[in-house]
Amino acid sequence: MGGRLGLKLAPVLMRSCLRPTFLRTAHSGSYSLRQIWPSLCPKLPLTDAVSLVSRRYSSTKSTAKGAVSDLERRIAAIPIERFRNFCIVAHIDHGKSTLSDRLLEITGTISSSDSNRQILDTLEVERERGITVKAQTCTMIYNHNGLDYLLHLVDTPGHVDFRAEVTRSYASCGGALLLVDASQGIQAQTVANFYLAFAEGLKIIPVVNKIDMMAADVPRVLEQLETTLELDSSKAIGVSAKTGLNVKELLPVVVENIPAPMGDESKPLRMLLVDSWYDSFRGVVCLVRIFDGTVKAGDNIISFATDNKYTVGEVGIRYPTQVPQTILRAGQVGYVIFNPGMKKIQDAKIGDTFTTVGSENVVEPYPGFEEPKPMVFVAAFPTDPGDYSRLADSIGQLVLNDRSVTLFKDHSEALGAGWRLGFLGSLHCSVFQDRLRQEHGASIIITEPAVQTKVVWQDGTESVLQSPADFPEMEEGRSRGATYYEPYVLATMTLPQEYLGRAIELCEAGRGEQDSIEFFHGSQVILKYRIPTAQLVDDLFGKLKGATKGYATLDYEDAGWRESKLVKLQLLVNKMPVDAISRVVHLSQVERLGRQWVTKFKEHVQRQMFEVVIQAAVGKKIVARETLKAFRKDVLAKLHASDITRRHKLLEKQKEGRKKLRAVGNVVIEQEAFQKFLAK
Ligand code: GDP
Ligand code: MG
Repeated sequence: MGGRLGLKLAPVLMRSCLRPTFLRTAHSGSYSLRQIWPSLCPKLPLTDAVSLVSRRYSSTKSTAKGAVSDLERRIAAIPIERFRNFCIVAHIDHGKSTLSDRLLEITGTISSSDSNRQILDTLEVERERGITVKAQTCTMIYNHNGLDYLLHLVDTPGHVDFRAEVTRSYASCGGALLLVDASQGIQAQTVANFYLAFAEGLKIIPVVNKIDMMAADVPRVLEQLETTLELDSSKAIGVSAKTGLNVKELLPVVVENIPAPMGDESKPLRMLLVDSWYDSFRGVVCLVRIFDGTVKAGDNIISFATDNKYTVGEVGIRYPTQVPQTILRAGQVGYVIFNPGMKKIQDAKIGDTFTTVGSENVVEPYPGFEEPKPMVFVAAFPTDPGDYSRLADSIGQLVLNDRSVTLFKDHSEALGAGWRLGFLGSLHCSVFQDRLRQEHGASIIITEPAVQTKVVWQDGTESVLQSPADFPEMEEGRSRGATYYEPYVLATMTLPQEYLGRAIELCEAGRGEQDSIEFFHGSQVILKYRIPTAQLVDDLFGKLKGATKGYATLDYEDAGWRESKLVKLQLLVNKMPVDAISRVVHLSQVERLGRQWVTKFKEHVQRQMFEVVIQAAVGKKIVARETLKAFRKDVLAKLHASDITRRHKLLEKQKEGRKKLRAVGNVVIEQEAFQKFLAK
């Protein structure tokens, strides 16, 4: 690459102007250096100089130049037969992160002084909730009987909302460590994820963790492995991820039992997108598994899902930080950054296949790609309208990092300008909300999660509505002859037989319709119900776990639209609708929910100089009512009318200083009231 002058210039550039911020401008091509570069350095293209420098910037102390090439040489010498790609399947808190760290230490990928740091869990909320939302991977080199093995540990999200992502992660593996806490035994999630992994044909190695604990009951776990999952428990390995006891035994078992990936590096590129994230310096980073062929900087590749073409800017491995490599080949799991970068993270579609431009017709994309579909929607508003742009920035930043969130602008009479956000499921939604709240505390109001509604109008046209505001009022002309549909899911629940009665009760109460019951292994039941998605969103999983002492697993798939008696329930304050509190609900829920709303809202509204009437209504029909009495010493009661105008004047004055107050008609409501009302 480049002439002598170019190579001389590169370090100069590095010192002077090629800071990461500059790199971004150079990447996007907007900097004038692009124009002057050819005269400065005719032999070295600017893009090469930039990637040369950016490679320097992305490397860390452990990956200094010499180390990188040593590492590369070592990797290049390992044939695909000595690759092992695996993941850890576990219930939350059973020790997946702790064990991952121990494995990174044993293989020398990190030093043990880095411990207590759960290297693979990067986001704070994830660590707090013990949920890994984004799948991450790490490459390790392990020497077994004098031979180097290239291991890829692929981290997986642990919840059904992210099922597509879990499946993609499994697709890049040959086997899985099934990790079970010796004191807890096999839990709901373990079973669900075990079946997913099993269905993907992964070789399963049972591992019993936390054997150091007093409460450890290893024989019980071994029996559960046999009876619940039909695994050979004599093959199970007992470890303590925390103390490191016996963890050394695991890698030889991985090497000897998990099959090497299949793949042919002489074939055209076939590359599966497993995960993606946004790096503020580098743009969209794609985590990929190479099935066939090789990929390196400068390659022109094309996406099967979007038909978009890209030029590869950099390839590398996670070790555990991003370490650039000259090439990734069949069997490897690594990252790819495009140059120019992918514009939106939404273009990085999990499960998409890429190939080299020109090979589109000879390469078969990896099967089963599905666009993620948002199922749950919330609206978010700033408490203080002055915060709008600050919040917009931060929501934008969060969406940048989560390709499965959809974002639209929204507006509410009571709460002003805001956003409507769509999520894959209720956990996905609540993790995102937590992130927003963590950053913005009291300055954001988030409405209750809701699902979409479909309306078929009298003339046969259809609309899919995301916001209750778009739902027609009963008295509106356009509602005549309209039929309404709500989304359903087919929920598959696995639970011990003794809880069957309670689970059925729960599903029936949630307007579910039984699909099938199947008994297996004597004591376990697989129960299938068609159930409104709204019920799923209303914490069906939580309720189910409550009814089964945590033993039930829940999985679901889209089951299409069903005609339904849907109406819009609306909260009124002194006859004025509060549009932020309205919901499309099934007719059967109207009374109960209406009553709940008025009681709860009354608690949070402060007394006024006059009487406040809080009502829940469907169209003109009032279904529930509460009255908030005026202050006792309301000496101005007789001057009611003038009092209201004075209040209005006062309100005008307050506008600047106290934005926390919102007026609904003549009633002043504190933002806090909305917040408290909408909080669970
Ligand atoms: P994850 O949710 O599966 O990633 O679980 P973590 O690795 O975060 O572990 C959950 C908790 O269990 C942490 O407090 C760990 O310190 C603890 N833990 C993990 N492995 C062991 C172990 O072998 N013995 C004991 N006593 N505690 C462990
Ligand atoms: Mg973890």
